[in-house]
Amino acid sequence: MSYDVAIVGSGVAGLASAYRLAPDHDVLVVDRDAIGSGTSSRASGVITTPVDYPGQPEWSEHALAFFRELDGTGVFEWTEREFVRGVRPADVEAARESARAEGISLVDRAAYDEVFAEDAPYERALVWEGTGFFDVDEFLATMQRECASRGVEFRPDTAVEAVHVEDGVATGVETEYGSVEADSVVVAAGSGTRPLLADVLGLPLRKFTWNVAYLDADLPEGYPMAGDPVLQCYWRRTRDGHLLVGVQHEYEGPPEDEREVGPEIETLLGEAFPTIAAHGDSEVVRYEVCPMADTTTPDANPIVDAPAEGPANLVIAAGFHGAGVMASDSIGTAVRSLLTGEDAPFPIDPFRLDRFDTRSTDFPFRSLFGKSSRS
Ligand SMILES: Cc1cc2nc3c(=O)[nH]c(=O)nc-3n(C[C@H](O)[C@H](O)[C@H](O)COP(=O)(O)OP(=O)(O)OC[C@H]3O[C@@H](n4cnc5c(N)ncnc54)[C@H](O)[C@@H]3O)c2cc1C
Repeated sequence: MSYDVAIVGSGVAGLASAYRLAPDHDVLVVDRDAIGSGTSSRASGVITTPVDYPGQPEWSEHALAFFRELDGTGVFEWTEREFVRGVRPADVEAARESARAEGISLVDRAAYDEVFAEDAPYERALVWEGTGFFDVDEFLATMQRECASRGVEFRPDTAVEAVHVEDGVATGVETEYGSVEADSVVVAAGSGTRPLLADVLGLPLRKFTWNVAYLDADLPEGYPMAGDPVLQCYWRRTRDGHLLVGVQHEYEGPPEDEREVGPEIETLLGEAFPTIAAHGDSEVVRYEVCPMADTTTPDANPIVDAPAEGPANLVIAAGFHGAGVMASDSIGTAVRSLLTGEDAPFPIDPFRLDRFDTRSTDFPFRSLFGKSSRS
């Protein structure tokens, strides 16, 4: 059988693309592992698009709106929760400026004494409303079910070895079990994207991940999500009242360091975290590691594009820099727009490949916290 679209990868990018294309396309999703078992399955479910995509308000709002709509579908449950950033005395002026420019609140830190440690070095707090969290396993299961009910076919445990290109046009994929013909190909293969396309297109994508720990706290319902830009970490309450803490893990490189867990999380928990977060000295229940990792780009924004330098009918969606889950429906909507020519309800140009001069992985790592104010 020939498909309208073959999608490589069943993480949030592949599933969201399938979901948006399914109503009027025959879609096949192929994954080398179980559906949704890649980096997406390890995510913390912190949904803070206005914080992490500060230059793209429409993209950000579109993504958030989808989670509110999906709430109650299948096993998916969206929890709206504000995101709070402690502001140190030296940063108050800059925070006032951000608050004015981005329409967020700057409040007395005492309003968040339940979140910050008593001696935390903060004078004020920046507060984003309309953000939230969910259990990513529930999101992935619901998206898979919704896709299947719209006719999307899934082929798990099937590695894609190459994208077929004939006369400058992508015509399908070669899997370990044979060829699949398709009018268009979407490669949303996370850290597998660059190696898969090595013969077709150069992509400036290198590994990036978070390290996460769950602490044995007993937090009250309504506990806000929070973060700190200096320590480059975030934290939130889980549904069972535990404290989830994430810190960015910058791979050395290139060549890339294959460490599964960097020393960052132990250092954070052993030293600074108890001084900024209430309950920050609670015992670790478990760690979450992600050996396959996410990817990042030179400007820490993703590539969602049908690149002119690649074959026709090929769309790339990768490089989400630890912030892909929160952008899910904007990714899917952008992919649909690139394949159908329909307008997207937000600009897609900021995610074009040709904004970069390089196609190499040898670029300096750019922290999310330098691009924005995740915390
Ligand atoms: C610990 C941790 C915490 C995080 N927390 C958050 C968070 O709170 N909020 C947030 O928004 N983001 C978070 N992220 C980031 C988020 O998980 C990623 O941005 C997102 O999952 C990327 O999705 P993806 O679909 O691009 O990649 P993936 O989920 O990795 O999907 C790619 C898929 O492609 C498949 N694949 C690869 N190569 C091939 C091939 N050759 N053939 C077939 N299949 C192939 C893989 O098996 C995989 O299933 C976190 C990440 C980590 C590691």
